[in-house]
Order: sequence, then C-alpha cells, then structure tokens
Amino acid sequence: MANEKGYNEILNHKGIWERINMNVRCNYCRQSFNLSRDYLVDAVAEATEKKQKYHTVECINCRKAIKVPVVQMKRYAPEAPAEDEG
Ligand SMILES: [Zn+2]
Repeated sequence: MANEKGYNEILNHKGIWERINMNVRCNYCRQSFNLSRDYLVDAVAEATEKKQKYHTVECINCRKAIKVPVVQMKRYAPEAPAEDEG
C-alpha cells in the first residue's frame, strides 16, 4: 500500500500515518537502511517456504551479509492484508 509519496505507510488507530519500512543496521560498518514492505513480504514468504529462521540481506554499504530474524520481519509484513474486513 504505497501512497503518493512513495512510502509504504499504514493508518494507525490514532489516525496517524506511520511508515512501516523496517530499519536494519549493519553489524560490520554500522550503516543503517530500510527494507520496504514489498521486500519484506517476499522475504518472509521465501523464508517460510524454506523453513528458515533468518533472512539474509546484503548491506548497501559494505555488501556483507546481515541476518535478519524472520519473526521480526513478520511484524512489518503481515502475511494477509487486512483490507476487506467487515
Ligand atoms: Zn555494512
């Protein structure tokens, strides 16, 4: 659900738009970067299929592999979109 600004955001219960990109920090060079919701949805689906507990992302700065817990990614990428409730 990307809005016109190009961000992935959700409308929270207070009526405030929140960005739902997940922030990851590199253990090696301390570079931090965001994983978009679209990326996370794909990554979670793939990890679930392969029964992996971690997903590996490449640091945008030093290109080292960073392990991201799948459980953590799921909080940002719910498996089923809750759009057609009610
Ligand atoms: Zn790095």
